[in-house]
Amino acid sequence: MRGCWLLFALVLGCLVGCVGAPPTSVPPLPSRTVVPSIPPATSTPTPLPTAGPTPTPSPVPTALPQAVELRVDPTQLEPGHTLAIRLLSPWPVTAEGTLGETTLHFVSQDGGRLLVALLGVPVDASAGERVVAVHWQDGTGRTGVQTATVELLPARYPRESIYLQPDRAALLDPEIVRAEWERLEPIWNSWTPQRLWSGDFITPTRGQISSPFGTLRSYNGGPAVSYHNGVDISNPEGTLVVAAARGRVVVAERLQVRGNAVILDHGWGVHSAYYHLSAILVEEGEVVEARQAIGRMGATGLATGPHLHWEIRLGEVPVDPWEWVRRGGRF
Ligand SMILES: [Zn+2]
Repeated sequence: MRGCWLLFALVLGCLVGCVGAPPTSVPPLPSRTVVPSIPPATSTPTPLPTAGPTPTPSPVPTALPQAVELRVDPTQLEPGHTLAIRLLSPWPVTAEGTLGETTLHFVSQDGGRLLVALLGVPVDASAGERVVAVHWQDGTGRTGVQTATVELLPARYPRESIYLQPDRAALLDPEIVRAEWERLEPIWNSWTPQRLWSGDFITPTRGQISSPFGTLRSYNGGPAVSYHNGVDISNPEGTLVVAAARGRVVVAERLQVRGNAVILDHGWGVHSAYYHLSAILVEEGEVVEARQAIGRMGATGLATGPHLHWEIRLGEVPVDPWEWVRRGGRF
C-alpha cells in the first residue's frame, strides 16, 4: 500500500512542471527570494571554486551511555524533512528497526557501538505521533528493544499553479513518466554503506528560487496533483552547477522529462539530483568533490525556462534540500 502511494507521489511529483522564470500567465509564485548563502545573480556570474573542502570527521557522539540508548533527532518535524535515528551502546550490537511501517537502514560505526539510520519523511505524511522501535542484540545473545516517539507536525507548504505549453505538456504522457521512473527507481533504492560526503552540503548554483520545495502543484488550471520534489533555482542558461557534496556520479544522461540529468550517490542512501542542464560535465562512475563543476544550467526536458531543479532523496523519499544546507550535511 505504502509502495502505491509512494509511486504515485514520486512519479508525478515534480517531474511535471519544473519552472524556470515564472510564465506571465501564472500568478506570482508564493516565494521568490534570493537563494541564501550564495551571492545575488549577476549578468556574468563568477564560477564557483572547484577545489573540495578539507574533509572533516563525521559527527559521532563521543560519550557512550551506561546502557543501550535510542536517540531521535529531531523529536518533532514537518513532513519533507530528515530524521536521524541513533542507537548508542556501551558494547557492540546489531539492530533492526522501524518507524511506523518503514524499515530503518542502520549503518554501524565505532565497532558496533553506534548505529545510525537516516530517514526522509514523505511530504504528504499526515500529522501525528509515530513510534520508532529498535530491536538490538549483541554477540552474547543479549537482546533488547528501545522505543522513542516522533511527532510529525502539519505540513505548511504553499500551492502553486503551473502553465505548460502544449509541446512541454506532452511530456506528461503517463508512459513517458513511467518509463523514466523505472529508469531511476533502482538508483534511489541502491544503498551504499560508505558515507562518501564529509563537511557541508552547499547550494549547487547561484540564482533565485523560482519554486521552493514541497509546493502542491496544479497544471494548466487543473486540480492540485503533485508535490514539488526539489528546489528550482533560476538564472541564465549556462550558469555553472556544482556538486552539493562529495559523491559518485550514478546518472549522467539525457532524460525526456528531467532533461539532461546528473545524479550523485553520497552513500547511506542519500542521493542528490540536478535536472534540466544545458550541458553535463561529468561521466557516470566518476567521484566528484563538493564544489566540483558537474553541469550548466539549462531548460532541457519539462522546464518553462532556464533553471536548476535540485533534489535530495533518502531512498525514494525527497526531502527539503535547504535543511541539508542549513545543517551542513550533519545528521
Ligand atoms: Zn523543480
